[in-house]
Amino acid sequence: KNSSHTVKENGFVYRKVAKEVYAGTKEKATFVTLARNEDLYSLIGSIASIEDRFNRKFQYDWVFLNDKEFTEEFKRVTTAMISGTTKYGKVPPEHWSYPEWIDQNKAAQVRDQMRADRIIYGDSESYRHMCRFESGFFYRNEMLKDYDWYWRVEPDTRIHCDVDYDVFKFMKDNGKKYGFTISIKEYPATIETLWKTTREFMEKYPEHIHPNNMLDFVSDDEGASYNLCHFWSNFEVGWLDLWRGPAYSAYFDYLDHAGGFFYERWGDAPVHSIAAALLLDRSEIHHFGDVGYFHVPFHACPIDDLTRLNNRCSCNPNEDFTWKGYSCTTKFYTVNNIPKPAGWLKYAD
Ligand code: GDP
Ligand code: MN
Repeated sequence: KNSSHTVKENGFVYRKVAKEVYAGTKEKATFVTLARNEDLYSLIGSIASIEDRFNRKFQYDWVFLNDKEFTEEFKRVTTAMISGTTKYGKVPPEHWSYPEWIDQNKAAQVRDQMRADRIIYGDSESYRHMCRFESGFFYRNEMLKDYDWYWRVEPDTRIHCDVDYDVFKFMKDNGKKYGFTISIKEYPATIETLWKTTREFMEKYPEHIHPNNMLDFVSDDEGASYNLCHFWSNFEVGWLDLWRGPAYSAYFDYLDHAGGFFYERWGDAPVHSIAAALLLDRSEIHHFGDVGYFHVPFHACPIDDLTRLNNRCSCNPNEDFTWKGYSCTTKFYTVNNIPKPAGWLKYAD
């Protein structure tokens, strides 16, 4: 136990207790957040929840990336929130622009059509650059070059539970390379040719497909079609070399040349998920069922009392999305023969 020390401030006496900090070695790991300056005050709640529940004990670094220069205010406020070292990087224009083979008129026509069809973010040019960046470039940023592991954090998210173990060491010690909290089905209109393009890639580069892959998570008919299941990439804990390696590099290049980041509206979530399912050993993918998570409009909340109460989760298990019909996490457990928590069916609808 820590003893208190007495501090006099503003004419008051405060008995303060030092916070507890883990003293062992750390992994080469960092949080990573892509954000705009105007996201600052939506982001600090996400940061506070990660710091309070996990990082104040471990003090991992935090890398912020932006296609524009961060303001002094953004840097000052976020640095004050974070126990680890903070770093601020600018995305180079090559990582946030049209490749030369893209027909920008055609891309603009697609945006107009998707606006008329009311497809979510379908009319947005910046959203497409964002999705392409998260798919193919964040892990190549200078700021991330000395790290092996990352945990992605977005504005307006929360983790609901105490995490009293080193998540990065957990990944390493248990042979995991990709971790998620929520999985869900994608809007088909945003990815019409993604699976066809993926199948071409699989045929052309069979050497990149892992023999013990998890095709049965993303396809219900042995690869004929995509079942739309993907890990929600606004939360990710992952191994950076998964994306930096030759298999994913070839996959991203193939997708990028096919043009669907601009001619459709391919999201980084289905791209990362299909890649993780096909390029990894299925045992290398982990569901973090004990963290609890929120990104509008879904909560992950451990339904198992022991997990939820031991970790002091501040969420309502009746709002948990994990075991609902539109979630793909039930399938993840089924195809991998992982036992589901007792009583999960009661939370299915
Ligand atoms: P959604 O979760 O799919 O609704 O998309 P978000 O609006 O949350 O965007 C995903 C992530 O990319 C968030 O971390 C945003 O802060 C970030 N982001 C989105 N668009 C831009 C952009 O134009 N510039 C920058 N720097 N970040 C962006
Ligand atoms: Mn978001």
